[in-house]
Amino acid sequence: MNAFASENGDGKEFVSHAPGYWSDATQELWNDWKWQLKNRITTLGQLERHLELSDQERSGVLLSGDKLALAVTPHFFNLLPANEPDDPIRRQVIPRIEETWGSPYDMADPCGEDSHMPVPGLVHRYPDRVLFLVTDRCASYCRYCTRSRVVSGVGEQELHTNFEEAFRYLEMHTEVRDVLLSGGDALIFSDDRLEKVLSRLRAIPHIEFLRIGTRVPIFLPQRITPELCAMLAKYHPLWMSVHVNHPRELTIEVKRALERLANAGVPLGNQSVLLAGVNDDVETMKTLVHKLLMCRVRPYYIYQCDLINGSSHLRTSVARGIEIIESLRGHTTGYAVPQFVIDAPGGGGKVPINPGYVLYHDNEKIVIRNYEGKIFEYPETGNENVQFAPQREYHDEYLYS
Ligand code: SF4
Repeated sequence: MNAFASENGDGKEFVSHAPGYWSDATQELWNDWKWQLKNRITTLGQLERHLELSDQERSGVLLSGDKLALAVTPHFFNLLPANEPDDPIRRQVIPRIEETWGSPYDMADPCGEDSHMPVPGLVHRYPDRVLFLVTDRCASYCRYCTRSRVVSGVGEQELHTNFEEAFRYLEMHTEVRDVLLSGGDALIFSDDRLEKVLSRLRAIPHIEFLRIGTRVPIFLPQRITPELCAMLAKYHPLWMSVHVNHPRELTIEVKRALERLANAGVPLGNQSVLLAGVNDDVETMKTLVHKLLMCRVRPYYIYQCDLINGSSHLRTSVARGIEIIESLRGHTTGYAVPQFVIDAPGGGGKVPINPGYVLYHDNEKIVIRNYEGKIFEYPETGNENVQFAPQREYHDEYLYS
């Protein structure tokens, strides 16, 4: 096991776990992303060869297979301890019986994507940008996946992206300036296949900006080859949103993969999902955002977990998310503070959720609270008709003290 950066036990060290459970694999095979995909853990038998499963996990593997497939790359599997079912990495990728439980709030399509799909595989929900679902496959499967209805090929729906129709739609819709490739995970494509999609999009003059949403650099860092990076660099401006939930996911290999992307000029942001027992505490999130900056990744969003079917055991309170942001804002580098959002159920889009820093606001002044809880006034210009519902507890405290 190698480690570098911090060695003082604060969780910020970068560690390699290779070859871990695969002590027979040569280094050449280990570093081959196709070998990693071929050797994914996908069955109960393979799991039990390495892990001592809890009853909840064993039942989860047996009963949740028609909801979302089980698959974990050897690289990521090495992060799982053999006998700790509640480990934060294990909770993300090993099915549990709770996935078969329903909650009255659960939804198959919590972001309302299917009702905003003018062409199969193309979601046009916001005015100037689209989500292009180019595949239903990922390197590994996250048990809380927002698109589990289509992802992995075993769920209740199938994804039949019509590429030609999608390109034609985009050519005609001149208001679309931003295309986000997601799925599934576009980086699972071969370089050639991905380049065909990127070059075709780039040939559309009004598309200003391309993005890829991917967890491949984390699940499968071997995929981030110099050849892939050189190809991506031909299609700038190309941005990437990666998905890291826990600081332990940032290994030596992942850090190198992210650096390689950054060196190819790809700006990197991170999207985390707030998950119970994974990252719903201040210390874990603080370590994560600091490690992300060390990997040249800007923490971008923390999502409140969508109301996806069978995810209630992973959801945490909104109050916990606000508490985490409160503990970061002002207490650490501004670049390290992501935006906490709720994707409004049913297709309302992302809504930013912030701690209450504005206590009162009218035509004359705004009353604000800083990260230390100190209260300040800033004069208004008096030109606008400001209407702001004050937060009662602060308002009363401020006005009557
Ligand atoms: S990588 Fe993304 S799309 Fe794939 S299973 Fe995880 S959350 Fe879903």
